[in-house]
Amino acid sequence: MIEVAPNTAIMIYLAIFLTVIMGLWLYTHVIKRHKKIVITEQHLLVCEYCQCAYVEDHTKEVTKCPECQSYNKNNSYKPK
Ligand SMILES: [Zn+2]
Repeated sequence: MIEVAPNTAIMIYLAIFLTVIMGLWLYTHVIKRHKKIVITEQHLLVCEYCQCAYVEDHTKEVTKCPECQSYNKNNSYKPK
């Protein structure tokens, strides 16, 4: 049987523990780097027919209401 001094056993335990923690950190770090967030500029729009507010890409000239499925044109929300 291998005899290990208490100090050596504690050092081995800490080394294994830190290695596992570093491995988990590296794994999550690599996964987060692969996720790319694509943000497009969106505007708040209001449906002409049902007054439902929704968010859509502002470059589209005609948008579709998610509530009533009707098509809207130039319906940007303008606070009064
Ligand atoms: Zn609508």
